[in-house]
Amino acid sequence: MITPILPTYARMPIAFERGEGMYLYDTDGKKYLDFYSGIGVMCMGHSHPTLVNALVEQAKKLWHTANTYQIPEGERLAQRLVDNSFADTVFFANSGAEAIECCIKMVRKYHHDKGNAGKYRLITMASAFHGRTLAGIAAAGQEKLTKGFEPLPDGFDVVPFGDLDAVKAAIGPETGGIMIEPVQGEGGIRVLPNETLQALRKICDEAGILLVFDEIQCGMGRTGKLFAHEWAGMEPDIAAVAKGIGGGFPLGACLAKEDAASGMTVGTHGTTYGGNPLAMAVGNAVLDEMLKPGFLDKVVEMGDLLHARLAALQQRHSGLITEVRGKGLMAGIRIPSKPTRDIVVDLIGRGMLPAVAGDMVLRMLPPLILDESHIDEAMTKLDAAFTAFAEKAD
Ligand SMILES: *Cc1c(COP(=O)(O)O)cnc(C)c1O
Repeated sequence: MITPILPTYARMPIAFERGEGMYLYDTDGKKYLDFYSGIGVMCMGHSHPTLVNALVEQAKKLWHTANTYQIPEGERLAQRLVDNSFADTVFFANSGAEAIECCIKMVRKYHHDKGNAGKYRLITMASAFHGRTLAGIAAAGQEKLTKGFEPLPDGFDVVPFGDLDAVKAAIGPETGGIMIEPVQGEGGIRVLPNETLQALRKICDEAGILLVFDEIQCGMGRTGKLFAHEWAGMEPDIAAVAKGIGGGFPLGACLAKEDAASGMTVGTHGTTYGGNPLAMAVGNAVLDEMLKPGFLDKVVEMGDLLHARLAALQQRHSGLITEVRGKGLMAGIRIPSKPTRDIVVDLIGRGMLPAVAGDMVLRMLPPLILDESHIDEAMTKLDAAFTAFAEKAD
């Protein structure tokens, strides 16, 4: 018999009652170190006082009015994002998938309005993840996402991850842009080198096409910069963000340069909920914390520490761990010899929550507020789990 919740998730037999900072407490009162953050969403940890206060105060005043009217908190959030990024303008949505949809529509409309309606195709990279809409799964192109959902929207050309020659070869008269994650999340915490991002910028400029970054998982401070591409000293034309931007309140955004957004005039796109007063209040509260002097420096410092400690862990468990990768507080441990899910289940038993990702990777996306003691605690638990697995293997 089908469950009341559509059974599309392989849910673990565990439910949480409350959260505080870096920790979650399950319905039996057991405490867990959260290195998952609800897929990198809870960037300020659980029950952060600034976010709770912003939500509660806004909830007492006004929830929703529709984009028919001015939303001053939204205009303020958009201005702050513009002031702190490559972008000149922002569209607010409710999720990552919708932010991506806006990016794709924007590229098509850009070329259409410049008299190049045939330039509708986007080049994307293998093992990507761009959300679960039909366009999002078509863009990612992975069979595990698309099988059974055909026919898919046309217009996506998937090339091997990081392969610049393949990107160049895929550009044709119908290519309108390139859309990639600077650091792939679901695909297994795969980092595109700075030189690759710079080369993609050059390729787009030479071809007269747009560069779109999906920073839904790697953006909003996750790598220690507000946006991951800042490490490469270059800028996209359009970027999607979500996850961390709402700190747990559903919020996504499409950021763009003025020229890239030039086709998106009145009536061309919209949403009922997107950017409503509740979401905007929390989004501003997230930025209040993230833009505090020193906040992102601390993320860089903790990211460096996490990666140094993971490198040591890999040395101790070189029989199990073949690679440690990632950037900032986005880290992956590659374990080809064991089902990643088994290790995650073991760690949950030890009171730590990591996650799985593609390519046999154990993924960590801790809240950005962590300090050294949490990294110590995580390493103790990881070390114990890998020791137990190594013993089982003998
Ligand atoms: C999570 C994610 C999405 C989709 O976001 P939703 O809010 O689940 O729709 C798209 N791209 C990337 C890189 C993501 O990590």
